[in-house]
Amino acid sequence: MHAPQHPHQSSPLETIAVAAAAPADAQHHQPWLGFTLALVLVCAIGLLSRAGGVSALFWPANALLLGWWLRHPTMARRPAAWGLAGVIFMACDALVQTPGALSVGMNLANLVGVLCAWLYLERYGAVVLGLRQPRAVFYIGMAAVWGAAGSALVEGPVLYGVRGMEPWQAVLQSFAGAFFNFMLVLPLLLAAPRRVWQRLRAAAWWPVLRQAPKLPLVLLVAAEALAYAIPGLGALVFAVPALVWCAMAYGVLPITVLNLLLGLVKVMALAAGWLDIGPTQWYYSTSFFTGVALLSLGPLVVAVNHHLQLQTLQRLQAFVDHDHLTGALSRRTFMQRSQRRLQRLQREGEAVAVLMLDLDHFKRINDHYGHAQGDEVLRHFTALAQRHLRPEDVLGRMGGEEFALLLPKAGLQEARRVAERICQQVRNYPFVQEDGRVLYATVSIGVCVATPGLEPAPMLEALLAQADVALYEAKSGGRDQVRCVQAQGVRNTANTDGDGDGAATVSSVPRP
Ligand code: GH3
Ligand code: MG
Ligand code: MG
Repeated sequence: MHAPQHPHQSSPLETIAVAAAAPADAQHHQPWLGFTLALVLVCAIGLLSRAGGVSALFWPANALLLGWWLRHPTMARRPAAWGLAGVIFMACDALVQTPGALSVGMNLANLVGVLCAWLYLERYGAVVLGLRQPRAVFYIGMAAVWGAAGSALVEGPVLYGVRGMEPWQAVLQSFAGAFFNFMLVLPLLLAAPRRVWQRLRAAAWWPVLRQAPKLPLVLLVAAEALAYAIPGLGALVFAVPALVWCAMAYGVLPITVLNLLLGLVKVMALAAGWLDIGPTQWYYSTSFFTGVALLSLGPLVVAVNHHLQLQTLQRLQAFVDHDHLTGALSRRTFMQRSQRRLQRLQREGEAVAVLMLDLDHFKRINDHYGHAQGDEVLRHFTALAQRHLRPEDVLGRMGGEEFALLLPKAGLQEARRVAERICQQVRNYPFVQEDGRVLYATVSIGVCVATPGLEPAPMLEALLAQADVALYEAKSGGRDQVRCVQAQGVRNTANTDGDGDGAATVSSVPRP
């Protein structure tokens, strides 16, 4: 039995964000190969950003490790995984001929940083994966502080020893760099969907991107460009309002990407000397790295909050729109949606059919088998009816055991065929009770078909009233059957008894 499906009304970008929110349940497999490849890739990116210096400008590997551990908690507890990470770090360093002592020291700092952040964040794994709650952003921020502190306390002395930096400078610079990397990379990894490659290959993202509003992004690019045209400290925050707008327009995953890109652009611009934020002492750039990392928090919180709010509203809307027992549309929503659909079809000159469906002798079913069993029959009946519907058809529960159905672009033949099929399916369907006994039910259906060109175009209420008359005919004709009427120009919804302009031709359909 198929459960009735509720139409989903989220915006395309939010759909992606919802998909992204699915937590990984990959505890039962440990994808070592993927881990190795991903780590080598991000190490390569990091080493490329060294550009001759000792420290990488951008080092995403630690955040990748942390994100991976959080998604694969059993792997994180295996010393072999940490060992493999260390070996990959060392091998990549060896490839670019990093001096041995420096390589050991910096890679130890990497692992200690990841360990510190992981020890803090591991207990919040379920909260931070998918980035669905605002407090997840706080936990990520705290983990970044712990990770950066752990890393700096090891890397600081190494830089002091190898490069002769001032101790405080070494520690603070290390801290700022590590904090920047954790803050900008980790949210992206946590918000990224499960099986990201399959999703990208499915190419469902392309129409979504095309539909997304462009203005927030254009404003973001313009504001950031302005930061390079006007010297001064304000350059750091010019893009923030546009980024907040992007957060609301695009959702959580896109904002983690934009935060990362913007951070990288700023840091690269600073390194290239395009961004004039003041003197060039080390503490200015340290402060700059930390500031850029902190800037990403605001838009991220806005995106998470906004998404949560949208999701809550969607749930509430779905709750209001649907009948809770059967999943069919509630009466009010059926009337609203059908009225809109009908008007559009009439404008387009299309036919439409309206059906009234009423279970036969339902009171007896309740009396004989109990109310709970009656509920089950209603549920299964709805699912049976929905099997024959197209996505554009509208099914609503009008009350009790009475349903209404709107079939767009359906003429008399088509509507009769659908109605008879539902009738037949219900008649033959064994409704199995809790004790295993089987009960059978039947349904009577009245159909009213409005062909295009009726003057004046009939209102939904009038069509429903005529379908109701046909239903009454089906009931008095012995039930378990379909009766059809052809709608005529209807002015008065109450007057459907055959005279005047409410006249309808009742065509009897013999019982199969
Ligand atoms: P007919 O063939 O003429 O339609 O007879 P009927 O017994 O189906 O019609 P009637 O209107 O006399 O009875 C409908 C019954 O549906 C009465 C009511 O108790 C029952 N009913 C209404 N809503 C629900 C519900 O949500 N669950 C259950 N189990 N029964 C319901
Ligand atoms: Mg009934
Ligand atoms: Mg009834």
